[in-house]
Order: sequence, then C-alpha cells, then structure tokens
Amino acid sequence: MEKTTFVTLKELQAIDQHFPTPYHLYDERGIRENARNLRKAFAWNAGFKEYFAVKATPNPYIMQILKEEGCGSDCSSLTELMLSEACGIVGGDIMFSSNETPAQEYQLAQRLGAIINLDDITHIDFLEGALGLIPETICCRYNPGGYFTVSNSIMDNPGDAKYGMTTEQILQAFRILKNKGAKRFGIHAFLASNTVSNEYYPALAKVLFSLAVRLKKEVGVAVDFVNLSGGIGIPYRPGQAANDISLIGEEVRKVYEETLVPAGLVEVALYTELGRYMLAPYGCLVTKAIHEKHTHKEYIGVDACAVNLMRPAMYGAYHHITVAGKEDSVCDHTYDVVGALCENNDKFAIDRELPKIDMGDYLIIHDTGAHGFSMGYNYNGKLRSAELLKKPDGTVEMIRRAETPRDYFATFDFSKEYGALAR
Ligand SMILES: *Cc1c(COP(=O)(O)O)cnc(C)c1O
Repeated sequence: MEKTTFVTLKELQAIDQHFPTPYHLYDERGIRENARNLRKAFAWNAGFKEYFAVKATPNPYIMQILKEEGCGSDCSSLTELMLSEACGIVGGDIMFSSNETPAQEYQLAQRLGAIINLDDITHIDFLEGALGLIPETICCRYNPGGYFTVSNSIMDNPGDAKYGMTTEQILQAFRILKNKGAKRFGIHAFLASNTVSNEYYPALAKVLFSLAVRLKKEVGVAVDFVNLSGGIGIPYRPGQAANDISLIGEEVRKVYEETLVPAGLVEVALYTELGRYMLAPYGCLVTKAIHEKHTHKEYIGVDACAVNLMRPAMYGAYHHITVAGKEDSVCDHTYDVVGALCENNDKFAIDRELPKIDMGDYLIIHDTGAHGFSMGYNYNGKLRSAELLKKPDGTVEMIRRAETPRDYFATFDFSKEYGALAR
C-alpha cells in the first residue's frame, strides 16, 4: 500500500503561522473512522469494548474522542488513571492492566471502580493487602510460555516476557480468587506486538478461549470476559498490507463459536486494549529541514530529534517520511535524516531514498500517533513538542502546548537559589 499523508504543504504553511515545528499532528477524522470500523468488526459480540491503551497517546483530547466512539481506557500507572478520571472514563470503563504495581496505584484503581487485571499469582495477596479486600470483578493475565507461532512462523516469544502467569498458576489463581469471593472473572494475554497479520487475534483467541473452557471444567469458573489486549499492528512500511479488521473480527467469531459456545460459554464479552492500531496512522511528526551536511554521507538535520520520537533510535523502527509538496517528485537522493541529540542513534532515517530536500522543507514523519510523543523524554535538555489536532472541518487546535525551559526546570528546589530557573 502507498503511504499517504492527511495534511498538505499548504495546510502546514498555514499551521506555521501559529505553531512552530516540530509538533505532532493528529487526524480526528481518521481516528473516528477507524474506531467505528473496529466496533463494527466486533458488533456480533454484545459485550465488546475497546479499552484504549492510554500509554500510546496519553492526551485527554484524544481520549475524549475515543470515549465518544465508545472506548474505555486501559491504564497501567497512577497518572494514566488520573487522566482517565479527568476524561470521565471511570468504573468498568477502565481496565487496569499494570505490572509491578505499587499499592497506591491499586488503591486508586479500586476507588475509580476499574477492572483490575493481575499480572501474577502473588499479586492476589498483595492486592488484598493494599485494598483490604478482593474486588468482585477481577482479571488475570496469562502467559503460556514458549514461542507464539501462527502458520508455523514465530510471531513473538512469550517465554521470554516478564508478563503474566503460567497455566498452572492461572488455574490456581482463579481457585483462590473464587474462594475469596470474587464473582466476575476475566482473562487476558498479550502474546505478540505490532502484528501485521490477520491471524494474530484469532490465534490468540483460540489460546484464551481454550483456557476459559479449562477454567470452567477444572475450576468451576465461567469467565465473563476475555481481553485480547493490544498487539494489532499497522503497516509502517510502504508495500505492507494493512490488517483487515472486519476479517479479524469474523475469524475471532468463528473461534468463539467453535471453542466457547460448545462449552456452554455463550455470553462471554470480548475486550481489546489496542493502542497502536487505534492511533499510530492518525498522527505524524512534522519537522523542518534546518541543516544539510555533505561529509562521508549526505545528512539532513531537522528540528525534531529522538526525544520527540524514540522508536527509530530505540528499536531501529522504520517510519516513512514524506517531504511536503514533493509527494510526486522522484526519490533520487539518499539521506540520513538526523536530529540534534549528541547520540549517533538520533536518526529518523538511514540511507533513505527521498526527493532533493531544501532547507525549510517540511518533513512529515508518518505513523507517530501511538508510542510517539508519549515515549518522549528530555535528554540533552531537549523539550517536548506541542500536540495539534486536525479537526474534521480542517481547522487545527492545539491540544498540548510545547514545553518551555520553565517546565524543564520546574522540579528544582524552589526555596533555593536554583529555583530561580523555574520561575
Ligand atoms: C502496550 C499495551 C497495550 C497496547 O499495545 P499496542 O501494541 O499499542 O496495541 C495493551 N495492553 C497492555 C497491557 C499493554 O502493555
């Protein structure tokens, strides 16, 4: 598939009158359409709900849009819970899928009425200690170990992942939870990340539905919901075929009918906790070419850097780049597109074929809507950028301002001389 952008050079020039580069820009129309298609794909399941993985794009304006499209939130930290509450997403609309969780965070989750998803069998006692009770609704995270394969190819390596309980542990966990008075039960697993394959969810559903059948037979626990979690990916590279969400929904329905229904589990709600799939394609990082350097290689220096988008530096991830206004030009130049960090991995692209780039050109770095801004940091004293939202009517609203040096210095001791930096 060709990679396209949701913003034109003319629009970027207009935005520049109000907001300097770099910034992350999100496309409200795309976010809404995609969320609706996901709901449609799982409409056959009466209890279906997407809990948006807040860590992907922790911005209340984005969460509000998704809330309007029927989504809850999947949180795993104190501040994510606070964000969710601020958006009016509370109670059973919060999934708290955390790990290595401090007691205080379980307490806030419980106060908000969130569904707590336990990462380990030892967390039963920890949770009871923190809350003084076991919630009536409880979920446990499963990790079957080994490699997760689909059609004989390895998708990921759960045996090497820190998350979840073994089969024996999760069966035992539900025995204990049931004895302690829990009444509504759910199971969860996240076995592969960024899958660009229509087969991941159906294969994962098979694993979890089979576990649900065992839980019913061996423990006497009929699960109320199965949480398929995140992991549906997007085509970051041109030429990759996108997932077909309606096909995925349909294939999961088949597995549901083959596995759960014969065991008498006919009213199991399906939940998802998608982050990347909900947002990644509907955000981009807009940056300007400010330097060119001709040494052993051809470099284009831009005004964004890895603090604005860490994925290329961290995982060597591919993010497509479009030079605004040169969409149809031949890609007859080979560049490294680099940021300002004093780190040689601060490269948005290496040996990338692009049209000739001139100083002042806008570079649109694609698919930064999830795990983009949110992975940001302040290395080299670099500041986080603004986040902007392109509304369906084409207008652009700032949904988070850029950091200023005062934000960067805000945690110094105000009572002492260096506190002056923060004022
Ligand atoms: C990160 C995460 C997600 C979202 O993952 P994506 O790859 O963005 O879909 C969902 N659930 C949990 C528990 C996570 O840690």
